[in-house]
Amino acid sequence: MKETIYTIPINEVFEQKCGCPMCTLAKRTETKTLEYIMGAAMMESDVRESTNREGFCARHYANMIAMNNRLSLALTIESRLKTVADLTDAFAKSPNSRSAANIAKTGRSCFVCGKVTSEQERYYENLLGMWRDEEHFRELFRRQEYFCLPHFGELLERANRALPRKYAAVFARDLAGIEQAWLERMRGEVSGFTRSFDYRYNGEPFEKEAVERAAAFLSGLNA
Ligand SMILES: [Zn+2]
Ligand SMILES: [Zn+2]
Repeated sequence: MKETIYTIPINEVFEQKCGCPMCTLAKRTETKTLEYIMGAAMMESDVRESTNREGFCARHYANMIAMNNRLSLALTIESRLKTVADLTDAFAKSPNSRSAANIAKTGRSCFVCGKVTSEQERYYENLLGMWRDEEHFRELFRRQEYFCLPHFGELLERANRALPRKYAAVFARDLAGIEQAWLERMRGEVSGFTRSFDYRYNGEPFEKEAVERAAAFLSGLNA
């Protein structure tokens, strides 16, 4: 498969073998997008138009607040507020289901989440293509620690749709093998953690981060 702007980061992330690679890819897009909109892009009219229309979710506003560039953020919010005020005025003027839907839609969207979702689509496509075409990548795939549960499910379904049947079966078997080993490990760590509260097991070593690690696996959190 020829190198694209997607295959290079996929190879980089899979070579790191650290946590769920799909979460790491999503995180990279998220960080890149946040830095982009808080930087020079904020002044670009097409970006501003999108951020006015889509806004941001609570998590991404919190990320931007933590980035300590209050002027950039204030300017972004100033023009977002104008868009929301315009939509509200339009609704007040003619309160119909269409103007209500416009408000509901803009209240649900997030520019950063939208970017992450569309980039993840490309990553899934390229990843499955790389797995189909490259023995080296299949090997790299098999050596991953784990995929978080949401990405595990997503990969199984997508492979089934995108790969020829006999490839999809091998992909699913390899992926399930990775997940079985990780689940066994997580279950052991969490049991060890709960036992550490029992005096009978006093002094037995246990994984102090067991709960955080298992929660990250189950939800894709903290990637
Ligand atoms: Zn994940
Ligand atoms: Zn968001």
